[in-house]
Amino acid sequence: MPTRGDRHLRAIQLAKQLAALGARLKTIHLITGIPPRQVQSLFFPDARSIPRGRAPDSADWYHGANLILRSDACLIGARYRQLRNQGLAAGEALVFAYRAYQAATLPPYRISLDRAFNLVSYIDGIWLASAPTLSVLTCPGCGCEFIVAVGTVAHRGEPCPFCKLLERFHLDHRIQASYPARPALDMTERQLGMLALFHKLSPEAEGDSPSE
Ligand SMILES: [Zn+2]
Repeated sequence: MPTRGDRHLRAIQLAKQLAALGARLKTIHLITGIPPRQVQSLFFPDARSIPRGRAPDSADWYHGANLILRSDACLIGARYRQLRNQGLAAGEALVFAYRAYQAATLPPYRISLDRAFNLVSYIDGIWLASAPTLSVLTCPGCGCEFIVAVGTVAHRGEPCPFCKLLERFHLDHRIQASYPARPALDMTERQLGMLALFHKLSPEAEGDSPSE
């Protein structure tokens, strides 16, 4: 049975990881329960280094986002769902999912930690959300996991964000530039490599357990 000291230590460690990923004081507070003032004094001794800016109020941004941003969100959401299903606590699952997202794309990262926090809040119905409004489905077409409004049913023949990305990959320089690939590979191989990457981040992935 973890003691109060163990829980406090874990909260501090989590807050440190979140701060390193660029989370705002309020986000760190909501996840760890540590008062914002204390988070500031522990991890942001220089007040100028505190992350600024407003976080989104709802998850509506996801539905209106462009294809690359939605695919990024799906990578985070699918990984988060998987880790939660494996029994990880929400805060840890967010940190691992966000790091997996960073490993899969190229900086500058289009989705901030705060936006990822917003996203998983509405997937899980926790933190910012009183009930889930987003859920994670498996695409019958490509097998990737993607995010939809709660209650949506996946239909064969209805392309998910990853189906669309792969469709446009040849034509869209922005998409090609957004995901790491070895330049020596031809387009088809790059496309397959990208799909493999998405699958790696999907729930069936093996050998990548959060053990650190
Ligand atoms: Zn698909």
